[in-house]
Amino acid sequence: MTALGAIVSKRNIRRVDEDREDTIKRLLSNAIIGGPDSCWEWTALKVRKGYGVIRYNGKKLRAHRLSYELHCGPIPAGLFVCHRCDNRGCINPSHLFLGTNTDNMRDMVSKGRHRLIRLPGERNGQAKLTEAEARAILASKGKVRQEDLAERYGVSQSRISSIMTGKNWAHLTEVGN
Ligand SMILES: [Zn+2]
Repeated sequence: MTALGAIVSKRNIRRVDEDREDTIKRLLSNAIIGGPDSCWEWTALKVRKGYGVIRYNGKKLRAHRLSYELHCGPIPAGLFVCHRCDNRGCINPSHLFLGTNTDNMRDMVSKGRHRLIRLPGERNGQAKLTEAEARAILASKGKVRQEDLAERYGVSQSRISSIMTGKNWAHLTEVGN
């Protein structure tokens, strides 16, 4: 069984795996395939964040993740498929790489994408924190992981870190937390 087959059958053991070649054809037929170096733009359904969506063995998958699995191999648990090209709608496997959530966030922050995309109910990485939030973050020092705090407050981890080290909200650190 292929690695992809193993992953898929774990998700839904009763279904028969689709043929890999057919799936690749179906995947590619939903994108504009340019040259090997250009972005392969997904033309079918996308989620609000801009990632392509494809049905595979009865499951809705992110198109770029399926593209990575089909062309490059299985995605180890806990890793993300990131875009070198900063185009979430791209499924060109040569534009995809495996990274941790931290890589993914760092990548987004370094490219400024977090400032370009604002989703309702979500704050961008540069969001202003209220003093109460900054105090709560300081109070969590050593108890809650910085990544978790970053996610909870919708800011970048470096922002959390700068609060912890007193670079931001220094007056809170001075008065004691
Ligand atoms: Zn691309």
